[in-house]
Amino acid sequence: SFSSSSPAPDSAQQVLQEVFGYSAFRGAQQAIVGHVCGGGDALVLMPTGGGKSLCYQIPAIVRHRAGQGVTVVVSPLIALMHDQVGALDEAGVPAAYLNSSLDLSGVQHVERELMSGRLVLLYAAPERLTQPRFLELLDRLHERGRLSLFAIDEAHCVSQWGHDFREDYLQLSVLAERFAGVPRIALTATADDHTRADIIERLSLASARCFISSFDRPNIRYTLVERDNARAQLLRFLRDEHEGEAGIVYCQSRKKVEDTAEWLQGEGIAALPYHAGLSTELRRRNQDRFLREDGLIMVATIAFGMGIDKPDVRFVAHLDLPKNIEGYYQETGRAGRDGEPAEAWLTYGLSDVVNQRRMIDESPADDTFKRLQRAKLDALLALAESLDCRRQRLLAYFGEDSAPCGNCDNCLHPPARWDATDAARKLLSCIYRCQQHSGFGFGAGHIIDVLRGKLTDKVQQRRHERLSTFGIGHDLSEAQWRSVLRQLLALGHVQAEGDFNVLSLSDSARAVLRGEVPVVLRQAREAGSRQRTRAAR
Ligand code: ADP
Ligand code: ZN
Repeated sequence: SFSSSSPAPDSAQQVLQEVFGYSAFRGAQQAIVGHVCGGGDALVLMPTGGGKSLCYQIPAIVRHRAGQGVTVVVSPLIALMHDQVGALDEAGVPAAYLNSSLDLSGVQHVERELMSGRLVLLYAAPERLTQPRFLELLDRLHERGRLSLFAIDEAHCVSQWGHDFREDYLQLSVLAERFAGVPRIALTATADDHTRADIIERLSLASARCFISSFDRPNIRYTLVERDNARAQLLRFLRDEHEGEAGIVYCQSRKKVEDTAEWLQGEGIAALPYHAGLSTELRRRNQDRFLREDGLIMVATIAFGMGIDKPDVRFVAHLDLPKNIEGYYQETGRAGRDGEPAEAWLTYGLSDVVNQRRMIDESPADDTFKRLQRAKLDALLALAESLDCRRQRLLAYFGEDSAPCGNCDNCLHPPARWDATDAARKLLSCIYRCQQHSGFGFGAGHIIDVLRGKLTDKVQQRRHERLSTFGIGHDLSEAQWRSVLRQLLALGHVQAEGDFNVLSLSDSARAVLRGEVPVVLRQAREAGSRQRTRAAR
């Protein structure tokens, strides 16, 4: 009904119960809804699964009832628009979407609905807001006072620093200029300072109220393991801990997605592939099956997941290191949306560190961008190598203080640490000696052979058995040396460059070599120790 011109104070609560069937608001929802119903601008930072949609859907309904017209929701995700409009329809809320999936008559139909004033919410892909025709329709609504609110979902897409940057989002600055006085709410699950600053600047939200929710997902257990045999480790993880449960396995490349899905199927595990190179038809079918059937595993590139609202995803496994903590957090956040225990599991190794560094080095981006990407990767490596609470580190990255969580691998099974100062010095000096002797650098395999005193053909060819560092590391296994090297790479004391991943020392290595900086490292876990700790629980 359009009886009153300003919403009654209890109407948001009423809408929550009557339209959505929920008894109470969650977290900051109530404050956000109240602020936006009253016409305020808002920037909402809330983790995935936190309940962002209601933050604009309820104000949309309340304000429409008060005669203030339609809410336009900008969203880059066609699948999500489709789902949300379907759900709103079922709840009796007139809603529609405009995106590339509609034909001309479909578009015209939605436009008529829009202009009739019946629609409460209109979802629109960002490129619509660059189309003069659409903007003119909005102008007309604006003139009549029937343009109620703009909601900009996935607002981090406006940031060029982020992993989801979308050119069309830059055009959204038009909203503040062209439709002055229409409140705007921007929402995202990406929380780092850079992205936040970008959103505020590009969407002119300097005077918006910020609502920052805790990014903690207490029901997710974080586990990051060193890789020894990724497939065996994954299989153990799936069989021992997540038999028959739904989950996502992320891989970096399309080929690895296909290989892994096929291999899992061969192991009798129900797995489906998903990546951008598959036909639209197959992608849709696999996604539908994953959403509807129980206990399926989706093996996917990061093309899968944005906007997927499946509450009972019990685990997210990464077979490759993500690019940065934002990506890791967003991908793992797809587990346990229902609040039940869930697990984020990642396996990483030396090659991840090397590959990710190289991808940044070889990208066509400018130096400032590369420097930032390197810093972001380093933060993720520090998380992977950390000896203390994972969650504490993760939250600290998003600017939140917290105590050790008791629900991550490091809290549950504190890793053994060892004073690796001597080992680090041996490794660094071996890299240095080999390079000095031959006039060029070498990769990890050769350096470790020299350290361990292995008389390979290559060692003899290069006469590296004559070096003072030959054999000084016979006391550690090859796996242990790889672990030391990986950690020194993560700490930035060593660099790996070029097609052959040639190792060299960075500036910070000098202090370590001189013995001025102690190096405490995580003890490489012996294969099979995971099972022992499980049995001990
Ligand atoms: P986000 O967009 O932040 O990832 P959603 O808006 O999709 O989160 O909400 C996640 C889930 O939580 C949805 O299934 C939604 O219906 C549910 N939800 C949101 N708010 C509430 C609430 N106040 N009470 C109960 N369930 C809620
Ligand atoms: Zn912890």
